[in-house]
Amino acid sequence: MNIQWYPGHMTKAKRMMQENIKLVDVIIELVDARIPISSQNPDMANIAGQKPRIVVFNKIDLADPARTNAFIKWYEERGASVVLVNAKSGKGINQVMSKALEVCKEKIERNRKRGLINKPIRAMVAGIPNVGKSTFINKLVGKASAKTGNKPGVTKGKQWIKLKKDVELLDTPGILWPKFEDQQVGINLAFIGSIRDEILDTSELALMLITYLKEHYEDLLIKRYQLENISQKEPIEILETIAKNRHFIQSGNALDLNKASKILLDEYRNGVLGRITLETVG
Ligand code: GDP
Repeated sequence: MNIQWYPGHMTKAKRMMQENIKLVDVIIELVDARIPISSQNPDMANIAGQKPRIVVFNKIDLADPARTNAFIKWYEERGASVVLVNAKSGKGINQVMSKALEVCKEKIERNRKRGLINKPIRAMVAGIPNVGKSTFINKLVGKASAKTGNKPGVTKGKQWIKLKKDVELLDTPGILWPKFEDQQVGINLAFIGSIRDEILDTSELALMLITYLKEHYEDLLIKRYQLENISQKEPIEILETIAKNRHFIQSGNALDLNKASKILLDEYRNGVLGRITLETVG
């Protein structure tokens, strides 16, 4: 699941994207709705150039609807095409299709004028690791997975999946790297589980998450772990209370804070804590 990015990998990923982008009419860029800024590739706009792009907010089932709406508004005010998706359930997938046709309207019209009436538009999916690209592609392809096969000389051995009579999808997604230079991006990726936990100390990460939740989603934290009066408490005290309330005790009667940390992170990641977004617009 996780990719260790080295300069060589990044150069290769970028080159592959640049090659594939030449073959498509539209790029479907997936971001994680819980961290829509941190899960974006820093170079996407540059790589995409003039090609139309659709930003897909994936995993909306895990994100805070109010914050998602604020992000959508921000994007739409700037003329971007945004679609909300739950790739796991398939919610929003059809809107991606119609949006793809919509942003390719001019191209379809140009083709029509040149007599290319049934020429399908071609799309590719791109995003950082773990954002849901494979899940999204599988859902998109669904039962209609009729591979159009190789067309040597034209597609250089790429596989195109016919999604509708007028839309084809590149079967392999473009894998992009996140904005490593920004430390907060790394922390946000660790919160959602997209960076190996070994890179960061689990307890330290859990304490950082508690700090954020206490400030922005105090009610959810209180409700999930039966806490009381936490506004004056330090994150470590909150973690201790979680361990106590859940009876996470080590031998010798010490609280198992490591276990409490793991549970907290897990419960955040799989949505048990509630729908929580870790970034705000602007
Ligand atoms: P990729 O690395 O971008 O191809 O990501 P995957 O498709 O492998 O998905 C990574 C993880 O996210 C998997 O565990 C998926 O089940 C999960 N996932 C993908 N889309 C969604 C979604 O919309 N909602 C939820 N809750 N989980 C999702």
